[in-house]
Parts: sequence; structure tokens; C-alpha cells
Amino acid sequence: MNFEVVTYGDSVLRKKAEPVKAFNADLRSLALDMIRTMHAANGVGLAAEQVGRTCSLCVIDVPPAADVEGEGGPRLNPMAPMPLIMANPRITARAGEMEGDEGCLSFPAIYGPVKRAYEVTVEYQDLDGIQRALTVRGLLSRAVQHELDHLRGVLLIDHFSVPRKLSLALSLKRLKKETQERLKACPPA
Ligand SMILES: [Zn+2]
Repeated sequence: MNFEVVTYGDSVLRKKAEPVKAFNADLRSLALDMIRTMHAANGVGLAAEQVGRTCSLCVIDVPPAADVEGEGGPRLNPMAPMPLIMANPRITARAGEMEGDEGCLSFPAIYGPVKRAYEVTVEYQDLDGIQRALTVRGLLSRAVQHELDHLRGVLLIDHFSVPRKLSLALSLKRLKKETQERLKACPPA
């Protein structure tokens, strides 16, 4: 099934994720539904909070054409398994810096420049609970940092500069209101 992606204004986006403890069929099914939802929304990443859940799980899928340095350059992360499913992920090393526009499925049509580490090492468990580690660069590194932010309740707009946030104030207010009206009309189970 596809989830409806939770948008800004829903308090679940500010929740800190609880560790995943059971690596069972329910977790697998949640991860697969999150991947479906992410693909349907043309996103490159999705965290559990964005589908109303608070377990430490996120999915990422950076297409090969986007996993390059510059246009048509060599692949940056040919070894990273895609789609990437990470339970209990944590970043253990960061190197370099990059700045680029970043968006989020929970903030439709809202973008802004965000500084991130160019390279990160992330340790996580796969769906079988097996401990894994990956060092990633470029867009995939940005996606990992963005999704791990979600798992601790940190959002895209928290990284925006004050002027950027001010310029988006009306759009954010409107989005929050729409989200809250939808929640009132149809509260989560
Ligand atoms: Zn996001």
C-alpha cells in the first residue's frame, strides 16, 4: 500500500524515533510500503515519521543518473545497495562540506540551500538486523543526513537561514494550516 505523506504541521514530524527492536515481517512490510510511497511521490528518501510512525527506519533511493559528480560524471556510490533500507542508523564520521538546494516530501514546493557534510559514514541494521556500514558522498550523503535528521525530529526548515525562513513564512503558515485542517477532518487512527 501507499501511505499519505505527512506534511508540515503534523506533530509526528517533531517526534524522536524509537529504536527498532523486532526485525520481523511487519518491519519488512513497513519498509516496502515506504519505498512504494517514496517512489510514487518521486522522492529520494523517506523517514518513518513521514508516514506517521516513530520507529528508527528510513528508506533512500538515489537513481544512478543522479548519483554522479556534475553532469554525466562518474558514479559516486556504485557500491551502495538501492533502494537502501536503514534501521537504527547513525552517522559515525563526516568529512568535507557542500551546499545545495534541498527539498522534502513533507514540505511540498519548498526548497532552500542547506549545508551538509560531503561525505558521511553511516552505520545501520538491515531488515534482517545485520549491522552494516556505508561511506557515501554527494546527493546520497545529503539524503542520508536529511533522513537521519527526520528520525530525531529535525526538519529541512531548521537548516534554512533566517532570511530564507522569513521569505517562506507565508507558505509555511499556509502549509501548516492545510495540514491541521486535514488532520481535523480525518484524524489518524
Ligand atoms: Zn524530508
